[in-house]
Amino acid sequence: MRRRIVAGNWKMNGSKDLVKQLVGAVCEQSGNVGKDVEVVIIPPAIYLGQVAEQGGGRITTGAQNVSQWQSGAYTGEISAEMARDMGCGYVLVGHSERRQLFGETDSVAAAKVEQVLLSGLVAVLCVGETLAEREAGQAEAVVAEQVRSGLSVVADDQWSRVVVAYEPVWAIGTGKTATADDAQAMHSEIRKVLDGMNAPANEISVLYGGSVKADNAAALFAEPDIDGGLIGGASLKAEEFISICRSFPAGV
Ligand code: PEP
Repeated sequence: MRRRIVAGNWKMNGSKDLVKQLVGAVCEQSGNVGKDVEVVIIPPAIYLGQVAEQGGGRITTGAQNVSQWQSGAYTGEISAEMARDMGCGYVLVGHSERRQLFGETDSVAAAKVEQVLLSGLVAVLCVGETLAEREAGQAEAVVAEQVRSGLSVVADDQWSRVVVAYEPVWAIGTGKTATADDAQAMHSEIRKVLDGMNAPANEISVLYGGSVKADNAAALFAEPDIDGGLIGGASLKAEEFISICRSFPAGV
Protein backbone atom coordinates (compact mmCIF):
# COMPACT_ATOMS: atom_id res chain seq x y z
CA MET A 1 0.00 0.00 0.00
CA ARG A 2 1.19 3.54 -0.76
CA ARG A 3 2.34 5.00 2.56
CA ARG A 4 3.25 8.50 3.72
CA ILE A 5 6.76 8.26 5.12
CA VAL A 6 9.25 10.71 6.58
CA ALA A 7 12.64 9.10 7.10
CA GLY A 8 15.56 10.81 8.83
CA ASN A 9 18.96 9.75 7.50
CA TRP A 10 21.51 10.72 10.17
CA LYS A 11 24.44 9.72 7.90
CA MET A 12 27.67 9.44 9.93
CA ASN A 13 26.44 11.73 12.72
CA GLY A 14 25.36 11.00 16.26
CA SER A 15 26.42 9.65 19.62
CA LYS A 16 24.76 7.80 22.51
CA ASP A 17 23.84 11.19 23.97
CA LEU A 18 22.33 12.45 20.73
CA VAL A 19 20.23 9.27 20.40
CA LYS A 20 18.88 9.88 23.91
CA GLN A 21 18.01 13.53 23.26
CA LEU A 22 16.86 13.38 19.66
CA VAL A 23 14.90 10.13 19.67
CA GLY A 24 13.42 11.07 23.04
CA ALA A 25 12.26 14.45 21.69
CA VAL A 26 10.92 13.00 18.42
CA CYS A 27 9.00 10.29 20.30
CA GLU A 28 7.51 12.81 22.73
CA GLN A 29 5.98 14.67 19.82
CA SER A 30 5.18 11.71 17.63
CA GLY A 31 1.56 11.84 18.82
CA ASN A 32 1.21 15.16 16.97
CA VAL A 33 2.07 13.57 13.62
CA GLY A 34 -0.73 12.47 11.28
CA LYS A 35 -1.87 8.91 11.96
CA ASP A 36 -1.09 7.86 8.40
CA VAL A 37 2.49 9.12 8.51
CA GLU A 38 5.25 6.65 9.31
CA VAL A 39 8.24 8.24 11.07
CA VAL A 40 11.49 6.41 10.38
CA ILE A 41 14.89 7.09 11.96
CA ILE A 42 17.95 5.83 10.14
CA PRO A 43 21.00 6.21 12.40
CA PRO A 44 24.50 4.82 11.93
CA ALA A 45 24.20 1.03 12.30
CA ILE A 46 26.05 0.95 15.60
CA TYR A 47 23.20 2.90 17.24
CA LEU A 48 20.31 0.90 15.75
CA GLY A 49 19.67 -1.09 18.93
CA GLN A 50 19.69 2.00 21.12
CA VAL A 51 17.39 3.92 18.77
CA ALA A 52 14.93 1.00 18.63
CA GLU A 53 14.94 0.67 22.41
CA GLN A 54 14.52 4.38 22.99
CA GLY A 55 11.83 4.55 20.29
CA GLY A 56 9.75 1.97 22.14
CA GLY A 57 7.67 1.20 19.04
CA ARG A 58 6.70 4.86 18.43
CA ILE A 59 9.06 5.16 15.47
CA THR A 60 10.38 2.70 12.90
CA THR A 61 14.12 2.25 12.42
CA GLY A 62 16.07 1.80 9.22
CA ALA A 63 19.63 0.96 8.18
CA GLN A 64 21.65 3.28 5.93
CA ASN A 65 23.28 0.42 4.04
CA VAL A 66 23.69 -3.35 4.08
CA SER A 67 25.97 -5.79 2.30
CA GLN A 68 25.15 -7.25 -1.10
CA TRP A 69 26.11 -10.63 0.36
CA GLN A 70 24.08 -12.75 2.71
CA SER A 71 26.70 -13.61 5.38
CA GLY A 72 30.29 -14.71 5.82
CA ALA A 73 33.82 -13.36 5.56
CA TYR A 74 33.08 -9.71 4.71
CA THR A 75 34.82 -7.80 7.49
CA GLY A 76 33.15 -4.53 8.36
CA GLU A 77 29.87 -5.29 6.61
CA ILE A 78 26.43 -5.83 8.10
CA SER A 79 23.82 -8.03 6.46
CA ALA A 80 20.18 -7.33 5.72
CA GLU A 81 19.30 -10.20 8.04
CA MET A 82 21.22 -8.47 10.86
CA ALA A 83 19.29 -5.27 10.20
CA ARG A 84 16.07 -7.28 10.51
CA ASP A 85 17.38 -8.94 13.69
CA MET A 86 17.95 -5.47 15.20
CA GLY A 87 14.34 -4.51 14.52
CA CYS A 88 14.75 -2.45 11.35
CA GLY A 89 11.83 -2.04 9.01
CA TYR A 90 13.66 -0.23 6.22
CA VAL A 91 17.05 -0.22 4.49
CA LEU A 92 18.40 2.54 2.24
CA VAL A 93 20.02 1.25 -0.94
CA GLY A 94 22.10 3.21 -3.42
CA HIS A 95 22.20 6.55 -1.58
CA SER A 96 24.13 8.99 -3.76
CA GLU A 97 26.92 9.14 -1.15
CA ARG A 98 27.30 5.36 -1.47
CA ARG A 99 27.32 5.66 -5.25
CA GLN A 100 29.77 8.58 -5.37
CA LEU A 101 32.13 7.83 -2.47
CA PHE A 102 32.04 4.04 -2.36
CA GLY A 103 31.65 3.24 -6.04
CA GLU A 104 28.29 1.53 -5.75
CA THR A 105 26.92 0.72 -9.19
CA ASP A 106 23.38 -0.05 -10.25
CA SER A 107 24.19 -3.77 -10.18
CA VAL A 108 25.47 -3.56 -6.60
CA ALA A 109 22.31 -1.65 -5.71
CA ALA A 110 20.23 -4.42 -7.31
CA ALA A 111 22.10 -7.09 -5.31
CA LYS A 112 21.43 -5.14 -2.11
CA VAL A 113 17.74 -4.70 -2.95
CA GLU A 114 17.59 -8.46 -3.41
CA GLN A 115 19.12 -9.10 0.03
CA VAL A 116 16.84 -6.59 1.73
CA LEU A 117 13.73 -8.13 0.17
CA LEU A 118 14.91 -11.67 1.00
CA SER A 119 15.15 -10.60 4.63
CA GLY A 120 11.57 -9.37 4.63
CA LEU A 121 12.47 -5.68 4.97
CA VAL A 122 11.47 -2.67 2.89
CA ALA A 123 14.12 -1.50 0.40
CA VAL A 124 14.30 2.26 -0.19
CA LEU A 125 16.09 2.63 -3.52
CA CYS A 126 17.67 6.09 -3.80
CA VAL A 127 17.98 7.54 -7.29
CA GLY A 128 18.89 10.95 -8.65
CA GLU A 129 20.81 12.82 -11.31
CA THR A 130 23.87 15.05 -10.92
CA LEU A 131 23.79 18.72 -11.88
CA ALA A 132 25.80 17.99 -15.05
CA GLU A 133 23.29 15.30 -16.05
CA ARG A 134 20.36 17.67 -15.42
CA GLU A 135 21.99 20.47 -17.40
CA ALA A 136 22.64 18.04 -20.26
CA GLY A 137 18.93 17.19 -20.34
CA GLN A 138 19.59 13.63 -19.18
CA ALA A 139 17.92 13.71 -15.76
CA GLU A 140 14.89 11.58 -16.68
CA ALA A 141 16.96 9.00 -18.58
CA VAL A 142 19.50 8.65 -15.75
CA VAL A 143 16.84 8.26 -13.08
CA ALA A 144 14.83 5.83 -15.23
CA GLU A 145 17.90 3.63 -15.70
CA GLN A 146 18.67 3.65 -11.95
CA VAL A 147 15.09 2.61 -11.19
CA ARG A 148 15.00 -0.12 -13.86
CA SER A 149 18.38 -1.59 -12.91
CA GLY A 150 18.09 -1.27 -9.13
CA LEU A 151 14.63 -2.83 -9.08
CA SER A 152 15.25 -5.43 -11.81
CA VAL A 153 15.41 -8.14 -9.11
CA VAL A 154 12.01 -7.46 -7.54
CA ALA A 155 9.55 -10.37 -7.79
CA ASP A 156 5.84 -9.72 -8.36
CA ASP A 157 4.96 -10.39 -4.73
CA GLN A 158 7.70 -8.10 -3.36
CA TRP A 159 6.59 -4.72 -4.72
CA SER A 160 4.74 -3.90 -1.50
CA ARG A 161 8.17 -3.73 0.16
CA VAL A 162 9.72 -1.31 -2.30
CA VAL A 163 10.01 2.46 -1.83
CA VAL A 164 11.80 4.82 -4.22
CA ALA A 165 13.51 8.01 -2.98
CA TYR A 166 14.18 10.62 -5.66
CA GLU A 167 17.14 12.65 -4.48
CA PRO A 168 18.73 14.94 -7.07
CA VAL A 169 22.42 14.81 -6.20
CA TRP A 170 22.77 18.60 -6.59
CA ALA A 171 20.17 19.11 -3.85
CA ILE A 172 21.67 16.86 -1.18
CA GLY A 173 23.23 18.80 1.67
CA THR A 174 23.54 21.91 -0.53
CA GLY A 175 20.55 23.94 0.62
CA LYS A 176 19.20 23.80 -2.97
CA THR A 177 15.85 22.06 -3.29
CA ALA A 178 14.09 21.04 -6.47
CA THR A 179 10.96 23.13 -6.94
CA ALA A 180 7.78 21.30 -6.04
CA ASP A 181 6.86 21.32 -9.75
CA ASP A 182 10.21 19.83 -10.86
CA ALA A 183 10.11 17.20 -8.11
CA GLN A 184 6.50 16.31 -9.02
CA ALA A 185 7.46 15.96 -12.69
CA MET A 186 10.25 13.51 -11.86
CA HIS A 187 8.07 11.55 -9.42
CA SER A 188 5.48 11.18 -12.12
CA GLU A 189 8.18 9.92 -14.52
CA ILE A 190 9.34 7.40 -11.90
CA ARG A 191 5.80 6.10 -11.61
CA LYS A 192 5.68 5.69 -15.39
CA VAL A 193 8.93 3.71 -15.30
CA LEU A 194 7.51 1.50 -12.53
CA ASP A 195 4.37 0.99 -14.54
CA GLY A 196 6.51 -0.07 -17.49
CA MET A 197 8.09 -2.70 -15.25
CA ASN A 198 4.64 -4.12 -14.48
CA ALA A 199 4.93 -2.88 -10.91
CA PRO A 200 1.81 -1.57 -9.12
CA ALA A 201 3.06 1.99 -9.67
CA ASN A 202 0.25 3.73 -7.83
CA GLU A 203 0.81 1.62 -4.72
CA ILE A 204 4.53 2.39 -4.39
CA SER A 205 5.65 5.26 -2.15
CA VAL A 206 7.99 7.69 -3.87
CA LEU A 207 9.81 10.03 -1.46
CA TYR A 208 11.64 13.25 -2.24
CA GLY A 209 15.02 14.05 -0.67
CA GLY A 210 17.43 16.95 -0.99
CA SER A 211 17.59 19.84 1.47
CA VAL A 212 14.02 19.31 2.70
CA LYS A 213 13.33 21.67 5.60
CA ALA A 214 10.34 22.67 7.70
CA ASP A 215 9.75 25.66 5.43
CA ASN A 216 9.69 23.82 2.08
CA ALA A 217 8.22 20.42 3.05
CA ALA A 218 4.54 21.41 2.82
CA ALA A 219 4.83 22.54 -0.82
CA LEU A 220 6.61 19.30 -1.76
CA PHE A 221 4.26 17.01 0.18
CA ALA A 222 1.21 18.67 -1.37
CA GLU A 223 2.18 17.27 -4.80
CA PRO A 224 0.14 14.24 -5.86
CA ASP A 225 3.11 11.94 -6.55
CA ILE A 226 5.27 12.91 -3.54
CA ASP A 227 4.54 10.57 -0.65
CA GLY A 228 6.96 12.01 1.90
CA GLY A 229 10.62 12.73 2.35
CA LEU A 230 14.07 11.36 3.00
CA ILE A 231 15.64 13.96 5.25
CA GLY A 232 19.35 14.38 5.96
CA GLY A 233 20.58 17.47 7.82
CA ALA A 234 17.18 18.54 9.10
CA SER A 235 16.60 15.15 10.74
CA LEU A 236 19.28 16.02 13.31
CA LYS A 237 17.10 18.73 14.83
CA ALA A 238 14.06 17.33 16.64
CA GLU A 239 11.78 20.37 16.22
CA GLU A 240 12.60 20.73 12.55
CA PHE A 241 12.19 17.01 11.85
CA ILE A 242 8.83 16.81 13.61
CA SER A 243 7.68 19.91 11.84
CA ILE A 244 8.53 18.20 8.50
CA CYS A 245 6.59 15.12 9.63
CA ARG A 246 3.58 17.41 10.17
CA SER A 247 3.79 19.06 6.76
CA PHE A 248 1.32 16.82 4.91
CA PRO A 249 -1.97 18.22 3.64
CA ALA A 250 -4.87 18.20 6.10
CA GLY A 251 -6.43 14.80 6.54
CA VAL A 252 -3.18 12.82 6.34
C1 PEP B 1 20.04 12.69 2.30
O1 PEP B 1 21.12 12.48 2.80
O2 PEP B 1 19.38 11.73 1.88
C2 PEP B 1 19.56 14.06 2.18
C3 PEP B 1 18.49 14.28 1.49
O3 PEP B 1 20.30 15.05 2.82
P1 PEP B 1 19.88 16.59 3.04
O4 PEP B 1 18.45 16.60 3.53
O5 PEP B 1 20.81 17.10 4.09
O6 PEP B 1 20.02 17.28 1.74
